[in-house]
Amino acid sequence: MEAKIISGTKLREDILSEITKKSVKLKEEFGRVPGLVTILIGNNPASISYVSLKIKTAEKVGFKEVQENLNEDVSETELLDLIERYNEDDTIDGILIQLPLPKHINEEKVINAIDPDKDVDGFHPVNVGRLVIGKNVVFPPCTPAGIIEMIKRSEIETSGAEVVIVGRSNIVGKPIANMMLQKNKGANSTVTIVHTGTKDLKSHCLRADILIVAAGVPGLVKPEWVKPGACVIDVGVNRVGEKISKKTGKKISVLKGDVDFDEIKKIAGWITPVPGGVGPMTIAMLMENTLNSMIAKVGKEIV
Ligand code: NAP
Repeated sequence: MEAKIISGTKLREDILSEITKKSVKLKEEFGRVPGLVTILIGNNPASISYVSLKIKTAEKVGFKEVQENLNEDVSETELLDLIERYNEDDTIDGILIQLPLPKHINEEKVINAIDPDKDVDGFHPVNVGRLVIGKNVVFPPCTPAGIIEMIKRSEIETSGAEVVIVGRSNIVGKPIANMMLQKNKGANSTVTIVHTGTKDLKSHCLRADILIVAAGVPGLVKPEWVKPGACVIDVGVNRVGEKISKKTGKKISVLKGDVDFDEIKKIAGWITPVPGGVGPMTIAMLMENTLNSMIAKVGKEIV
């Protein structure tokens, strides 16, 4: 039997509609909706496209959306001053700075300048610490949070499951490992992280009940590395060429994941596609974090 396809595109719509309802309730009860500021520096086409999608989604769920588009040559001091202004702004619950930053700006300094209670990307060391401890976690990083949500909504058992993660980056591999090993519902797994220093990738992957791949290497994981019935989450987004979109007639990138989708779907129990898998979930989770930021501030549960 073929694997069930976990559609991030479909789940994103479910989540965004839940967020929209809660945003309306917040407005009714507290007179305002969650506020998100997106800060974009320079003209990197990939960054512009990611930020546009975030803005569009924030508007779709009814949030207040503020855009700050800065020139490539903006100084570090100017950027830090801008962040400080939004740290002090009570109508803003989330500050998102699109990475990467130009070379003359110190990324660590910028991330550390964001108020940890508005750090909707979850990259501030305070939020990383909360994630590791497993307490007061308001801002799980968006991609790992999206993965957890996909697993949860697909009703896949995580307690006692062998979870193998390919990749140890600070934005995907390490946080998802920390989240999956917490002693709570939707986690409680036995976690292994593999990377370029791992001796035998295949033997680790073959043990996985849940295999999460975030390496950035197209087609790295082969069908013979996958245990029959496993859940395979493909985080990789690799641009492998260009094609003309049938919808718009414009040139678009051809995207490929880190796993051999066509062959692995014949073996796995569940699999995520690329595109249309983890990507859409990441943006939905950014909205969820912004919503939860306001909910944490008003101190009342919204159901
Ligand atoms: P990254 O910072 O480049 O980290 C890649 C990790 O994979 C590193 O830990 C690296 O090991 C490991 N790795 C690379 N090649 C490997 C190999 N041949 N065997 C074993 N391990 C290998 O990447 P990232 O930021 O985590 O992103 C990973 C992928 O996910 C990229 O394709 C990225 O575009 C995608 N991504 C997608 C989303 C989304 O929303 N869908 C979000 C974030 C990232 P070492 O540490 O040993 O170098």
